[in-house]
Amino acid sequence: MSLRVIFLGPPGAGKGTQADELAREWGVPHIATGDMLREAARRGTPLGLEAKRFMDEGALVPDDVVIGLVGERLAEPDAVSGAVLDGFPRTVAQAEALDRLLREQGTALDRVIFFNVSRPELLRRLTGRRVCRGCGATYHVVSAPPRVPGVCDRCQGQLEQRVDDREEAVATRLDVYETQTSPLLEYYRRRSILTEIKGEGAVEDVAAAIRTAVGQAVPS
Ligand code: ADP
Ligand code: ADP
Ligand code: ZN
Repeated sequence: MSLRVIFLGPPGAGKGTQADELAREWGVPHIATGDMLREAARRGTPLGLEAKRFMDEGALVPDDVVIGLVGERLAEPDAVSGAVLDGFPRTVAQAEALDRLLREQGTALDRVIFFNVSRPELLRRLTGRRVCRGCGATYHVVSAPPRVPGVCDRCQGQLEQRVDDREEAVATRLDVYETQTSPLLEYYRRRSILTEIKGEGAVEDVAAAIRTAVGQAVPS
């Protein structure tokens, strides 16, 4: 099976939560540019350190940096079967670069899923989000708490709040989404590959809506 899907939506919409589960279910890699950039920053590579300055403020990392990363990632062997792209593209320039990359590989996008979530719910999700230092698993202090407060269920790692999930950076990120990323809705709608889903409600209900949108029935 081959499946190339973009999870598109504002910060906090639940893209990462859904991509984690569904990419595994579909047997394709979950490619999250935010995770890749944070990993590069943690390792202290020149690219990572440059990116971190933008990320901590809630600004976008320059297009050429992110396009280069995704180009390399899509050329890896596991991505021949497809991918769930989470957090990329985020600008029209990135979307155009992705089209070129896929055309060079002789492939194309199957579907773009837009997660529609109201602003108050985004704020609630972002300010309550906690991530594991060890494995990157995502929690929410109210709606998806770990069994032991502050401790990861999967690896016992310590949970922390992302610098850019503090209130100052959150407002910037939501504005950046509106001005730079939301034009992609029209970009993909014109190609008739956009499906909008309701991103609010139980995680399992959102997953079901996504499966339907990409034509993947629940595995029995
Ligand atoms: P969220 O899941 O909350 O939307 P991400 O983890 O996807 O956040 O991204 C965190 C930060 O990483 C962004 O605010 C931005 O600085 C940077 N980033 C991630 N993906 C991209 C991208 N495609 N283009 C530019 N910057 C990006
Ligand atoms: P994104 O990758 O789009 O930024 P995440 O998947 O990291 O979003 O989710 C943001 C926060 O919202 C996390 O704390 C996560 O646990 C929580 N969350 C995700 N999906 C739901 C949902 N359907 N209902 C309530 N909270 C959710
Ligand atoms: Zn963990």
